[in-house]
Amino acid sequence: MSRILLVHTGGTIGMTKTENGYQPDGAYFRQAVFHMDSLKKRDMPQWDFTETETLLDSSRMKAEDWNMIGRVIADHYEDYDGFVILHGTDTMAYTASALSFMLKGLNKPVILTGSQIPLCETRSDGRDNLITSMMIAGAGKVREVCIYFGGLLLRGNRATKYSADGMQAFVSKNYPPLATAGISIHYNESAFLQRRSERFECRPFANIPIGVLKVFPGIQFELFESIIAGKLKGVVLEAFGAGNMPDDASLLPILRKAYENGTVLTVCSQCVQATVDMSAYEAGSTLRRAGAVSGRDMTTEAAVAKLYYLFSVYDDAANVRFNMERDIRGELTQKNEL
Ligand code: ASP
Repeated sequence: MSRILLVHTGGTIGMTKTENGYQPDGAYFRQAVFHMDSLKKRDMPQWDFTETETLLDSSRMKAEDWNMIGRVIADHYEDYDGFVILHGTDTMAYTASALSFMLKGLNKPVILTGSQIPLCETRSDGRDNLITSMMIAGAGKVREVCIYFGGLLLRGNRATKYSADGMQAFVSKNYPPLATAGISIHYNESAFLQRRSERFECRPFANIPIGVLKVFPGIQFELFESIIAGKLKGVVLEAFGAGNMPDDASLLPILRKAYENGTVLTVCSQCVQATVDMSAYEAGSTLRRAGAVSGRDMTTEAAVAKLYYLFSVYDDAANVRFNMERDIRGELTQKNEL
């Protein structure tokens, strides 16, 4: 029988109402989980429960919190067959992306889940999300970082939060689901990450200055010069469609300055379903010539986490630029794979 570890980090699933709104409530959640009869059934894996030191609304998470979750997994890696991380939905896709890079050579399921309605409420979606995530983690078929939510198992670094209201809160428009859970759980094994025979290792992130800039019609780039070419080491530029942005005269010198400073500019799309192709339009090719790299079909969440990861591993921008366009953990589709 497999054995999994539940790690409570905060989020709506474990919150109760206070006069200032919902807040994480560790004592309540622990008690609710230990009293849930379904978790004791014979078709469930054996499990242990732990929680992070501070339970957070996930909007408060920082890179050091990702590191702490990574450390819990690494410290217990040999003791369990899989891990379920209970987490807020707001930044779940960022944490899932971060863990996917941080946990090199991962060969066990790490499933992030949570809920839109707290477990303490009658209509909570937390119960199914928790039970199904535990079954998936216990089954041990997927061996990568995933998000399970509302019937879909998605690769963590391909997922994005799409709805603040619906029970299917996450989508992965550039990559198919790894499983769908209806009456039974159907795995899409051909979409699983190919296992690499690397040794498992947790590589925590350094506190790298990273930024995200969403381009809009009429953007006056000179007003954003300090973001693009200032102190940040990595910037995700969310461009239009296939990677276009207004290439007005003020942009090029700023891009050049960023390049010379060693800032890595990564172009992602504002469209949830898109692949950046900077050679498709003249407006995009200006970016390419100025040294920006293509995020291809990566989510902004994955691009941010990848910049943290690569700058934590390499000291030089050239290596970061090269690896941003390469598939490291299934986060993007390389050009030669299309
Ligand atoms: N604000 C909450 C969080 O991300 C939202 C949720 O969990 O659904 O922690």
